[in-house]
Amino acid sequence: MSKIHRQLIVYDFDWSLADQDSDRWIFEVLAPDLRRKMKSLKDEIQWTDLVAQSLRELHARGHTREDIEGALKVMPFHPAMVRGVKAVKAASTPETTFFCLSNANSVFIKTILHSKGLENLFTEIVTNPAEWDPSGLLKLRRCVDPNGPQHSCKIGCSPNMCKGDELEAFLERHKPGFDRIIYVGDGSNDFCPILRLRSQDMILCRYYRGLEKRIAKEGEKEGLKCQIRYWAGAWEVEEIFKTLPDTL
Ligand SMILES: [Mg+2]
Ligand SMILES: [Zn+2]
Repeated sequence: MSKIHRQLIVYDFDWSLADQDSDRWIFEVLAPDLRRKMKSLKDEIQWTDLVAQSLRELHARGHTREDIEGALKVMPFHPAMVRGVKAVKAASTPETTFFCLSNANSVFIKTILHSKGLENLFTEIVTNPAEWDPSGLLKLRRCVDPNGPQHSCKIGCSPNMCKGDELEAFLERHKPGFDRIIYVGDGSNDFCPILRLRSQDMILCRYYRGLEKRIAKEGEKEGLKCQIRYWAGAWEVEEIFKTLPDTL
């Protein structure tokens, strides 16, 4: 048995840390017809590009930065998740680093984290870059620029980002390695990064969403090595955090 000194917790954002999907939520709150339009176009237009286009339409209708920030601040976010991550961060052993890996965008994530008092949780946030222009338009770009070299993921990551590559790049930047990595995710795009985890690592997979289905269908075939724990509500993630063994 060896003691765990350095631990990494990787969080997907939508439906994992937060209890909703930020890209869809703001349109459900501010312009449900645009939400409907996104649903009908999602197989034709790359998702990040579609959100960027919908944000331009929202702006053209006169919706302001304050409207969007207001919608983000009331997005469902479970108090148990806030409690759970704060307790892990505050504990001195093991020493835990938090990394956010998300297909949402930097403005949505930072606005919501700030509203929950979690603005200092993450050492790094890797996501699609976004910024407000002076007119109040939220300009959103893909993490991987469509005009530059593209990633070569074979596991099915969207063109805007390969989460597996981004996890490996993070680990490269934060050597020495971590004794244990815990990945909290729910979506089909969280399958690629968890294939890079080792047998001492753990996925906390949310039930009833894309990741659960991909693990069931492809986990064995693709050589998934990490331990798997399932959860439905944030209170269960908090419970898992409280009962994690401190040795390997
Ligand atoms: Mg998600
Ligand atoms: Zn990938």
